[in-house]
Order: sequence, then C-alpha cells, then structure tokens
Amino acid sequence: MNLTNTNRFQGIRTPFYYYDTDVLRQTLNVINEETKKYPGYFVHYAVKANANIKVLKVINEAGLGIDCVSGGEIEQVQKAGFPANKIVFAGVGKSDWEIELGIDNDIFCFNVESIPELEIINEIAEQKGKIANVCFRINPNVGAHTHANITTGLAENKFGIAMEDMEKIIDLASQMKNVNFKGLHFHIGSQILEMDDFVALANRINELQDKLESNGIKVEIINVGGGLGIDYVNPQENPIPNFKDYFETYNKNLKLRPGQTVHFELGRAIVGQCGALITRVNFVKQGSVKQFAIVDAGMTDLIRPALYDAHHKIINLTSQATEEVYDVVGPICESSDVFDKDIKLNQVKRGDLIAMLSAGAYGEIMASSYNCRKLPVGYTSDELK
Ligand SMILES: *Cc1c(COP(=O)(O)O)cnc(C)c1O
Repeated sequence: MNLTNTNRFQGIRTPFYYYDTDVLRQTLNVINEETKKYPGYFVHYAVKANANIKVLKVINEAGLGIDCVSGGEIEQVQKAGFPANKIVFAGVGKSDWEIELGIDNDIFCFNVESIPELEIINEIAEQKGKIANVCFRINPNVGAHTHANITTGLAENKFGIAMEDMEKIIDLASQMKNVNFKGLHFHIGSQILEMDDFVALANRINELQDKLESNGIKVEIINVGGGLGIDYVNPQENPIPNFKDYFETYNKNLKLRPGQTVHFELGRAIVGQCGALITRVNFVKQGSVKQFAIVDAGMTDLIRPALYDAHHKIINLTSQATEEVYDVVGPICESSDVFDKDIKLNQVKRGDLIAMLSAGAYGEIMASSYNCRKLPVGYTSDELK
C-alpha cells in the first residue's frame, strides 16, 4: 500500500482508517482472473471483515457476491448496491426479524446451522407464502493451523451441524414445503496459510458427497467458506494473497459432480491488506525498563492485538531517524491496550504519524466506543488525493 504521501492526511482527525483502493482493486482483479479458470467458482465477500460502504462499493463493482452473518449486514450490503440474489446468510443464532428480512428480499441462500433453525425458516417462509433456499453448514471436524479463537470447524466449536446428522436434516428438509435444499456449507477458520488445511476440508467434502450420492441425494452447491490468510509480517512485499494456489488447491482436490457450483466466502484475504490504521503519537514516555510510544489509537479502534494476540506491522510515517525500540500502546484504561512490544521504529517524537498495516479486515468494523471514544472514520485513497 502506498503511504508515501502523508500530505493527504493533513487536517484529518486521528486515529482513522485509510483504504488504498488500488490495492483493493488489484486484489479483486487477481480473484477474478483466477476464478475465471474454473467454471462454476463464485466468490462471496464476507462482509463481516469490513462493512465500510466505500469499500463495499468497490467490491460490488468487481461483481463479487456477498456473505452476511446478520440482518444489519444484509441492510448494509443492499445500501452498497449488492443484489439480494448474491447474498448468502450464515450465522448460528439468526433472529426471527433477520430470517424475515432474508426471505422478504429473496436472498440466494440461507446457510442453516441447526434443525430448530430450519424449522423456523420453514415456518416463516410458509407465513409469507415463499420458498427459502437452504444450505446446511456441516461441521467437518477439520482443524486449521491458526489461532484457537478463530478455528470454527472442530467438533467442539459451536458452529454447524454434526456430520452424523447431515442426512437426517436433509431428509427433514425434503419433507418441508417451504424450504428448498440446495447444498452444503463449510467454514473451518480464519487466517489459514497452509493449503493442506484446505486439502483436508476438500477430502472431507469428497467423503460426505460420496455418502450422499450413494443415498441418491443431489447437491447443487458446495460452499467451502473462507479463511485464506494474509501476510501480516511482510505486507508491503506481499500485498496480494496467494489466490492462485488457493483456487488451484480446491480445483485439484475437491471432486465435483456435473452442474455443481463452488462458492467461496473470503473476507480477510480481500480487504486485509488495503487498509491501515493511521494514528498520531501523543507522548513518548521513558519507563524504568521500557520506552513507550503512546499513540492516540487504542484497542477500541483496532482490537485484534488484544483479542487474538495479533501483530500488525507498525511503521513511522513521519520520521526516517535511526531506529529505537518501543512498546506501542494506546490510551485506553486496560493493560491489554498494547499494539506491540519491543518493536523497532524510526525514532518517534510527539506528533509523528504512525501506520498499523494490514488493518483492512476486522479493524474498523470491530471498533467500539468504550471510554466514550469517538469511532474511527474510514477514508479511501479515492477521497484523499
Ligand atoms: C468469518 C467467516 C468468513 C470469512 O472468514 P475470513 O477468514 O475473513 O475469510 C466466511 N464464512 C463464514 C461463515 C464466516 O463466519
């Protein structure tokens, strides 16, 4: 991402998010180039990663579908121009109003996570005289090499329907008048960089498909979820994730039946590298054993370090002075309000602008107003020239 021209940030209240739309558009181009090779592959952007309307509009222009996990997200993506027939709607605890919203808008598909949910969708669809498309989210009991808080595909996780109940729920759906069984949905976790994890998922899907086929059950849609990770260590060198390998891995390992389509729900991989959190240094404090760069952004603006032990590459945009070692901390009254410890930055002084890179995903959208702080605003490079 291009952060060389800091003049464009003059007069803007820090902290704020900055989105480089060149990076975003290049990322989307690569996705479209790679999926073109495989007919039937279709990518939905997982909007929970970043719901900034300016970002959404760029993604919609590229023709992607969309993956929502709440009614609020369905409303937001429609504001950004996404057509309802490209919306898939996941979530382990959908409320009635959210199900109604999906049915009223004739969304592409509900990703259903339990039998009680299926019954309620059927009931609400019946009241409305409609038929809702459903996929079943199956818990494949496949681990992912990622942080424990972001694995979702293990038997112990709350997500999805147990594999042994798969045929039971498909059978139930076939007896219901107002739902239409379309296919299977999976999602094993986030920030996954080992292609072998996706191979394991593809193998599991193959097994499940063989089982269904032997029982004469037809599946139209295979939705493999998202989870492709990004390079948080060297974001400037690797701004675009390895989509080539990712789609190739599925193409090599996932066995499709005639007419089947494969749906992907990528969040972080699409928006992660286009965003940075820009913050200003309020004070440099010499502690007894540490030197602190105290910035005006806190865990309320970017919670990933506090929540997931995540590391964002931090750089000083103002100074080229010799590097020194700092703990970069925020102003929030919590000990976990630390962005990183013992990192090297070009010598920092009060007023310097600092960028936290790779913050386009699960950054702005997770901001809170704890401590009565103002929410950070997100600006795009199209706006700030
Ligand atoms: C969070 C989520 C995604 C997106 O995950 P990323 O790691 O950002 O790609 C996709 N599908 C479902 C069901 C999710 O919950």
